[in-house]
Amino acid sequence: MAEAVGIGVSYKCGNVGRLVLRENGVKGVKMKDGSVYKVDTVLLATGAWTSEILSAMEDGLNVKEEERVERQITAAGFHRTAIRMVPEKLQQETLDAIVAKLFLNYVQRTPEYWRMCWDSVMPAQDQLVTKYPYSRLQNLYLAVGGSFQSWKFLPIIGEYVVNVLNGVGNGEEKDRRWAWKVEKPEGWGAHEKVVLRRDLSDLE
Ligand SMILES: Cc1cc2nc3c(=O)[nH]c(=O)nc-3n(C[C@H](O)[C@H](O)[C@H](O)COP(=O)(O)OP(=O)(O)OC[C@H]3O[C@@H](n4cnc5c(N)ncnc54)[C@H](O)[C@@H]3O)c2cc1C
Repeated sequence: MAEAVGIGVSYKCGNVGRLVLRENGVKGVKMKDGSVYKVDTVLLATGAWTSEILSAMEDGLNVKEEERVERQITAAGFHRTAIRMVPEKLQQETLDAIVAKLFLNYVQRTPEYWRMCWDSVMPAQDQLVTKYPYSRLQNLYLAVGGSFQSWKFLPIIGEYVVNVLNGVGNGEEKDRRWAWKVEKPEGWGAHEKVVLRRDLSDLE
């Protein structure tokens, strides 16, 4: 980021509230603090929170159910518990270097906190690097969809995203795989353990 700022990028940090629309596209981004940025182009790289921004806009535009962003990406949660180790004890256990014994110690402890870690999951676990398809929104793009495997693409994905923004694409296969899907793809992608099995509401 420092390098980008060094060549003239203006970098602002804040919480996006909603997109402000004009006749044929997005004219601004309204922040939760009330400020508005005027835009020529918007690229959402908002991961699992993308539908939080787009759903309200889709409601306003009466976008059909089957054409909405939630048919493309699902916010998926990964559940973690954390147990804080007493450092001396951890040192001792590490010294003991008995993995099985360490594991037993873990399960006898009460987790100190619980957290859900979110990512956006595509039906076939591809990325979604594309223009938003609704014809009224000519300047809205998405770079989302990770299926818990997109962190590793950080060093290279930017070039591909810029190609989409510039309208040159990334070749037939990538453009097809990373496109907004009209039909639900068959099967799941590379990692079966990421296949979504339950809705959060099933657990409440
Ligand atoms: C527990 C866990 C383990 C993982 N392990 C791996 C791994 O080993 N290898 C791997 O490759 N990938 C891994 N991943 C997946 C990887 O982290 C994601 O696929 C990747 O981060 C997705 O990138 P993204 O840019 O699409 O979304 P994110 O990284 O989620 O970024 C979205 C950003 O948008 C911001 N945002 C959202 N809404 C707003 C708003 N309204 N206003 C302003 N900002 C907003 C968020 O704060 C966030 O910074 C893991 C994920 C999790 C949760």
